[in-house]
Amino acid sequence: MPPLQVVWFKRDLRVVEHAPLYEASQRGWMLPLYIFEPELWRQPDASNRQWRFVAQCLQELDCELGRLSGRERGLIVRSGDAVQVLEQIHQAHGIAALWAHQEVGNGWTFQRDKAVRRWAKARSVPFYEIPQEGIIRGLKSREGWRDHWEAEMRQPLVPKPESLQIPPLRSENLPVAVSEDDCPDAQLGGRSRGLALLRSFLSHRMRGYARGLSSPLTAPSACSRLSPYLAYGVLSLREVVQATRRRIEQVQDDPNAGGVLRSLQAFESRLSWRSHFIQRLESLPQIEFEPMHPALANERTEVDPVLFEAWAQGRTGYPFVDACMRMLHATGWINFRMRAMLTAFACYHLWQPWREVGLHLARLYVDYEPGIHWSQIQMQSGCTGISAFRIYNVVKQSYDQDPTGAFIRRWVPELKRVPGAWIHEPYRMPLEMQRECGCVIGVAYPTPIVEHEVAARVARQKLHAAYGTPEAKAISEEILKRHSSRSRREPREPAKRTPQLELFE
Ligand SMILES: Cc1cc2nc3c(=O)[nH]c(=O)nc-3n(C[C@H](O)[C@H](O)[C@H](O)COP(=O)(O)OP(=O)(O)OC[C@H]3O[C@@H](n4cnc5c(N)ncnc54)[C@H](O)[C@@H]3O)c2cc1C
Repeated sequence: MPPLQVVWFKRDLRVVEHAPLYEASQRGWMLPLYIFEPELWRQPDASNRQWRFVAQCLQELDCELGRLSGRERGLIVRSGDAVQVLEQIHQAHGIAALWAHQEVGNGWTFQRDKAVRRWAKARSVPFYEIPQEGIIRGLKSREGWRDHWEAEMRQPLVPKPESLQIPPLRSENLPVAVSEDDCPDAQLGGRSRGLALLRSFLSHRMRGYARGLSSPLTAPSACSRLSPYLAYGVLSLREVVQATRRRIEQVQDDPNAGGVLRSLQAFESRLSWRSHFIQRLESLPQIEFEPMHPALANERTEVDPVLFEAWAQGRTGYPFVDACMRMLHATGWINFRMRAMLTAFACYHLWQPWREVGLHLARLYVDYEPGIHWSQIQMQSGCTGISAFRIYNVVKQSYDQDPTGAFIRRWVPELKRVPGAWIHEPYRMPLEMQRECGCVIGVAYPTPIVEHEVAARVARQKLHAAYGTPEAKAISEEILKRHSSRSRREPREPAKRTPQLELFE
């Protein structure tokens, strides 16, 4: 057997729209490789719910690759350190070339990829890393980036290879679990499930998108729910953008389709924001570890274990906040607004360190995507200096987004029998009534861990003091120049030239 073309699957678990696989398939014998890296799954942002999703995607990928090679299964799985695994394969079979997509992952994968590049160079193995999602490696300025992204999204889809020549090599079993983490209602992995969601969203579910995305009651069905499939590359961004645009073309001349068109356009714009934020992490990898703006660098440095745990376990005494956190524990997903509110409550009201808050949330998200996640965590915790400070009023959110309390009752069963008049603020309920409905505050359900209005006021004062100085404003201007999008179509960020205080309702 001649030396092999090795295709290294990472966060691109598909056979269509896969340029490295297609290119390798044109060059003879190949080895489609997934490396299970124990150290990756021990990182503080990784979790078992993410692994389970990945493992399900890998099973389908294995079958797809098998079909293309005329066998039952096609994926070769090896466990261990990536460099050592590649070295073993090179020693045993010879690697003619290594193919992969460029990955914008966390700091650990960035270092791992550098080590692989060094290894490939030392062994004179060509390592082809193909960009995707319109991301540019080593980008210095955002000037012209939107046009580049647009041109990338318009490219024809890379076809699925007609057949693959894969030798019958040993493949290892995937581990069942990487840690203890129960997420009973998590989305299931696999391209067929991703495609089914894309179809149902574009055919009818998107009708409720613009109206339904803010409330955690409606968002689970109104939103596309494509995030984990995009995060692990089970669907490619380009195929989702192109399918959305075809649907927009179908409805745009229909005078009765105004609402549908707005929903589709809102969705399409979020797809471009996906790359915008991933590009931000690519250009500024330190935002995973350091605040973009130094104004608050010496604040919120210590975790308060009592406050942090109450927030992390959904026991703050604010029913809506707790319901959101508990839904996230059970399902691995919650909508954008509630992700922002959970972050803001932890970092503003409880004044907890943004990085620990971000790590806890990252582990809970099945769809953890480092580029979006760390950009959003910094924005929603007041670390960027260029986006508005959104200090959510958690009680108002509760009344607005869950008017009947149905969401709270579902996720916080202690409050099931609390009457509608008190469901958003049960701590205000007379003691007599607390006894009557079997929910004495401080016993059956916690007393609020902070007074939210007071805590918000204190946070606002601290933010004013930190960002109001001429030096801090000058740094904000600089960040804005370097890292904002140059688009005229920005839906939200950055809206203002210097940070504004805002009660986000
Ligand atoms: C603090 C915080 C952390 C977040 N962390 C993640 C994360 O780790 N992974 C993740 O995929 N999203 C993250 N988001 C963005 C957003 O909440 C999710 O993408 C969305 O809720 C996923 O559900 P969906 O696929 O149904 O979204 P839809 O509304 O249907 O959007 C479609 C796709 O567009 C992209 N997208 C949507 N909103 C945004 C946005 N604001 N910025 C960039 N891209 C967006 C996602 O890829 C999403 O799948 C985060 C938001 C916040 C506030």
